[in-house]
Amino acid sequence: MEDIANIGGPSLSQTEPVKCEECGCEVFVTAYLMRKVSRLLIGAKQDGMMPIDTFACAKCGHVNKIFLPPELAKENEEKKDKSSGNNNLIL
Ligand SMILES: [Zn+2]
Repeated sequence: MEDIANIGGPSLSQTEPVKCEECGCEVFVTAYLMRKVSRLLIGAKQDGMMPIDTFACAKCGHVNKIFLPPELAKENEEKKDKSSGNNNLIL
């Protein structure tokens, strides 16, 4: 990851912390979302895997909505509606 403070970007004092939506932790680790791709779409013999870089809370593992591609954030929102209150199903 590039350190934008070193390339003439905003100084740290102009930024604000990002917190985990679930537990408020400010530390995140890199994680991958894995998306399965149908073999029919990629013309292969087996289904493929598409890893997507994201960040997960270092404490509880939650992935904030802002770290998700918009399509996936929407998908999770729909899942949440169906399984009212069961946060363990996210991702
Ligand atoms: Zn958390």
